[in-house]
Order: sequence, then C-alpha cells, then structure tokens
Amino acid sequence: MTKIVNHWIGGKTAEGASGTYGPVTNPATGEVTTKVAFASVEEVDAAVAAAKEAYLSWGQSSLATRTSILFRFRALLDAHRDEIAELITAEHGKVHSDALGEVARGLEIVDLACGISVQLKGELSTQVASRVDVSSIRQPLGVVAGITPFNFPAMVPMWMFPLAIACGNTFVLKPSEKDPSASVRLAELLAEAGLPDGVFNVVHGDKVAVDRLLAHPDVKAVSFVGSTPIARYIHTTASANGKRVQALGGAKNHMLVLPDADLDAAADAAVSAAYGSAGERCMAISAVVAVGAIGDELVEKIRERAEKIKIGPGNDPASEMGPLITKAHRDKVASYVENAASEGAEVVLDGTGYTVEGHEDGHWIGISLLDKVPTDARAYQDEIFGPVLCVLRTETYEEALDLINSSPFGNGTAIFTRDGGAARRFQLEVEAGMVGVNVPIPVPVGYHSFGGWKDSLFGDHHIYGNDGTHFYTRGKVVTTRWPDPADAPAGVDLGFPRNH
Ligand code: NAD
Repeated sequence: MTKIVNHWIGGKTAEGASGTYGPVTNPATGEVTTKVAFASVEEVDAAVAAAKEAYLSWGQSSLATRTSILFRFRALLDAHRDEIAELITAEHGKVHSDALGEVARGLEIVDLACGISVQLKGELSTQVASRVDVSSIRQPLGVVAGITPFNFPAMVPMWMFPLAIACGNTFVLKPSEKDPSASVRLAELLAEAGLPDGVFNVVHGDKVAVDRLLAHPDVKAVSFVGSTPIARYIHTTASANGKRVQALGGAKNHMLVLPDADLDAAADAAVSAAYGSAGERCMAISAVVAVGAIGDELVEKIRERAEKIKIGPGNDPASEMGPLITKAHRDKVASYVENAASEGAEVVLDGTGYTVEGHEDGHWIGISLLDKVPTDARAYQDEIFGPVLCVLRTETYEEALDLINSSPFGNGTAIFTRDGGAARRFQLEVEAGMVGVNVPIPVPVGYHSFGGWKDSLFGDHHIYGNDGTHFYTRGKVVTTRWPDPADAPAGVDLGFPRNH
C-alpha cells in the first residue's frame, strides 16, 4: 500500500484537502512508494494562521521555556538518529552512514539553539548622559518560513527552524516534495518535546505553496536553500513583498592543488568530496584545479581511488555511494559526460553505463572523471550535481585563482598545499564564502555561519551561527532617563537632544 505524507498544521496531521498529490520514489528501486500532499493556497493560509496564533504566546514565552523544549527535542533527535537516517535513505537514496552524518550536522544547530540565551543577551550602556541609560535588545519577527531542497531533507530544515523558534518566532516549513518524510518526523518529535501547537508547521507541495508563502502578508521572513535560479526568484519576489530574505543557491566548488601538496591526501580528499552523496551536495568538490606539473600524477591517484567506490542501495552497509534522486536527473548528469569529449575534455572514467544487478530500475550512474576540461565546456560551466569530477590544469597559482574567481558561483573552495603563506594568500584573495585549507568540504560548525558569495547566496545574511540569530530577530534600542527627585524640571527645549 502506498504511504501518504500529509501536512503538519497546528500540532497535528492535516490531510491534503486540495486532493493534489505528488509521487515520492525510492531512487534505489525506481518504485513510487509514497504520495505527498500538495498544498493549495488555502492550506498554506491555514498553516500561516496557526503559526500567527501560536506566536501570540510563543513570542512572549521565556527563554527558559523555549530552551527546555529544545533540550528535550535534542534528546529525542539523538535517540531517533537511525530512524530519521532510514527515512532519508528511502527517499533520497544516500547511504545510511551519510544520512547519519546529515542528522549529526543538523543536531549541531539544535545544540546552538539550546544555548540561545547567550546569543540573545542584549547590550547595556549606563550613564550615556546624565542619568540616561541605553539598552539594545533583539526581538523575534513573528511568522517565518523555510523552503528547503531535496539533498539534505533533515539537515537544511535544521539550519533554520531551531534558531528561528529559539528566538521566539513561529515557523512554516515547505520541504522538498521529493523526500518529505523526514520533515514530518521532525515535527512529531518537536511536538513530543512539548512544543506548543502551531509553533512549527509543515506544508508540502510545489510552486503553488512556495508562491503563497512569498506573498502572504503575515510571513515576515523567508529562508531558502536550493538551486540558483530559484534562489534568485525567491530573493526578488519575497523582497518585493517586503520580507527579509536569505536565499542560498547552487555551487561549483573548486579545489586548488599546488605542486607542493601531499598528493595522496589531496586525491583522497578530492574523491571523498566529489563522489560522496553521489555529488548531490552543495559543498561537493566538482572542479579540481591542478597547478604546475602535478596534473598527470594527481589524476592517476584520483582515478585509482575513484574506481574502487562501491555503488549500491543506500540501505546496504557495503555501499559507499547511492543512486541519484530522479531518473530525469540521472539522464541530465549522464548528458554532461556523454558530451564531454566533443567539448574538448578527456574522459578518464565514464560512469554512464553503470547499473546495479537486481535494481535495474534504480537511478544509477557510476563514477565519471573528466580531465583537461576547457572552461567553456558545459560540464565545467554548469552545476552538474552528480558524481562527475572535472580536472582543470593551470601553470601558476595566479592563473588558478583567476579561474576560480571567474566562476559565477562562490560557495565553498579549498586549497591543498604545505605552504602556509600560499594558503593565507588564498584565504584572502579567493571569492567564496567558505574556504578550506587542506579541508575539502569546509562546512562551518554550528556556531560559525554558513553561506556563499556571488550566485551562491542572495541576501546579506549567511545561515545559522550569529548570522542566523541576527536574521531571525530585529533590533530595538531603549533610551531611559530616571530623573533624581531632587533634579530641577528640565523645562522645554526645542533643540535636537544632545548628550551631556
Ligand atoms: P530546487 O531549487 O529545485 O528546489 C528547492 C526548493 O524550491 C524545493 O522546496 C522546491 O519545491 C522549491 N521550488 C522548486 N522550483 C520552484 C519554483 N519554480 N518556484 C518556487 N519554488 C520552487 O533545488 P533542489 O533540486 O531541491 O536542490 C538542489 C540544489 O540546491 C542544488 O543547486 C544545490 O547546490 C542547492 N543547495 C544549496 C545549498 C547551499 O547551502 N547553498 C545547500 C543545499 C542545496
């Protein structure tokens, strides 16, 4: 029997009233296992209304109340790691260990939210003028929305809602329609932790649901993570509707390898970062830039390692890499490899013919490695979002830096070298939001913010960390005078107030 995933509104399951459903597929078998309700405008309105109602008391609740619920949620999340990872694998396809890693990184943000009291401490200046004190405080916005991608169905929502609700907001999540189950399980665990009804809501669906959230007058802020064209659209539309917006987009992450690097370590890192999660990570390394004469040796070391990757269903403990999210996406990824030679690249490994015995209808593709890829090849220009690694060659560091900085994307990047001076120069000169030095996937820990530059992020706040708290609150400054009873009355003074 097909499983049905419904909305979560006002602390309970809300059956899809619109009667429209989308299919959810197990990528390892190609089988449609689940129907997910697609929200109408009225259903989104019902979720926003529930969140608005809940905000009346949640926005006024004490820090102690909010954090004690988050601590309970943290314990439940910890206890249900495996179960959530299984839901992710069944709908996304990534291997179980990778899904567990995603839950762990989401949990880091819950940790941060449990300590929100420290982040929300205001500032006080006493005696700024005679008997005058000034305090700065931050207050919640109201109802805020999150719209999230398929590739991290648990972690990316947790980049958003723990901090948003810890700050006193109420939340409406529109997760990816391709793997919706994890978000509903998170909603159930929040309810079990004691979160009041309506503080966290989930509406599933497509553009209809998203567009309503972007237009709804009661939604005060929108956090988005997804592809660049949609991120740009979300930023433009929600900003035009007067909302605060942070919209994180796609990526093409470069790993620069200098001639003095430890080539074995660089090859290990390149293979892990390029092919982990079948390349469906916004922080995947998709382009290696080999500087100087090391190119042939580095490509050979990458090839040796990449060939050994075991590909299979995510719930098989022997698998290191799973299938791609949909058949259409698999075919698109394959097209980049199929066209690569005619675009001037050398195809070192071609994974397009790969399949898994007994799972022939799964969305399989093997490992592809393209060398000497010209910068005008589509395989280099586009975000492929699959297990395809491009290697580019340059003579010098300057040429490599120029190549990286010419990319419209600026999410993550990495340098591999033993030269501290070169690494320091790279940190300062590269145009990207997150930089790794001998670290291929520099995803910041929860207490530092995550975000890219250029077409990888629209808006001026990175996500989580201090930027997250700032995004989900607005500032207020209170200036107070308590005159001494002995003071003479100040009298009327029409001059602009001066401090003395
Ligand atoms: P996507 O942009 O297709 O979808 C993201 C969300 O937007 C989903 O909830 C989807 O339902 C909604 N959406 C899709 N089309 C829409 C439209 N026309 N109008 C309104 N809403 C729409 O992204 P995806 O394929 O789910 O995820 C992969 C992309 O996300 C990749 O580009 C990846 O780099 C990016 N990503 C970025 C980060 C980051 O931190 N920068 C993190 C994870 C994923």
